[in-house]
Amino acid sequence: MEWQDAILADSARLIDAFHDPARLAMIRIALAPCSPFSVTGDLMRESAVLAREKGVMLHTHLAETADEDAFCLSKFGLRPPDYAESLGWTGPDVWFAHGVHFSAGDAVRLGACGCGVAHCPSSNMRLASGSAPTRQLLEAGVRVALGVDGSASNDGCHLLAEARQALHSSRVRGVPGQAPNPADALTAHDALWLATRGGAAVLNRDDIGQLAPGFAADLIAVDLRDLGYSGARHDPVGALTLCAPPRVALNTVNGRVIVDGGELLGVELPALVERHDAHSRRMIGLA
Ligand SMILES: [Zn+2]
Repeated sequence: MEWQDAILADSARLIDAFHDPARLAMIRIALAPCSPFSVTGDLMRESAVLAREKGVMLHTHLAETADEDAFCLSKFGLRPPDYAESLGWTGPDVWFAHGVHFSAGDAVRLGACGCGVAHCPSSNMRLASGSAPTRQLLEAGVRVALGVDGSASNDGCHLLAEARQALHSSRVRGVPGQAPNPADALTAHDALWLATRGGAAVLNRDDIGQLAPGFAADLIAVDLRDLGYSGARHDPVGALTLCAPPRVALNTVNGRVIVDGGELLGVELPALVERHDAHSRRMIGLA
């Protein structure tokens, strides 16, 4: 198929041009056909072959909604995780966004085959998709990270806000018809782990996600004197994941200072915000 060959050829071109496997690399390419219900099985299968040839990771959005379960069952005779498996999408080089509708059995299988999951709680709640079984996934040995999905379903895209949402959503999660299960509840430390070391684990990286010798200097500093932390300063991790998400005072990415004194460096912010507003108004027909 012509268009499929074009997609695969362009994917190979981008990997060759930009993928950097070196330690502390800032650009890694993964092949990410959007979802099993929006691309052909052939493209999913061939993307997996290409990714393994080139040594890059595979990503797609899976088991997000109850509709997707019904669609995959009627079209392929398989539930989303079984369909992904039938296409070769299992292993430590694969991670899925969402996983809201993974069963307890799916969690065990994902843990055994080494797949990762990017939990996207804000998007899942905003779109009324449900809430992923994060605790069950972690207990089954699945590597779990946090994701923001995309700006169509998550306007903030704020990772600390996502950690807070993960913590809160784990505490209201229940099987339909049953009360939430306190055993599903994540702790403040769990939420911070998902936002940092969980992300590194899902991406198979041993050079980011924690502050340690030889790791990238990726760090944020938050001013606990901020009014929002009043009364919570005795517990910095709890403050960070339970209080309103802050704007950081300092942010360095791989040692480069990006935010200093609360200001984003190297960007004309008012002009950028004005342009963003203009594009947004045009897109929704207000211009
Ligand atoms: Zn998604």
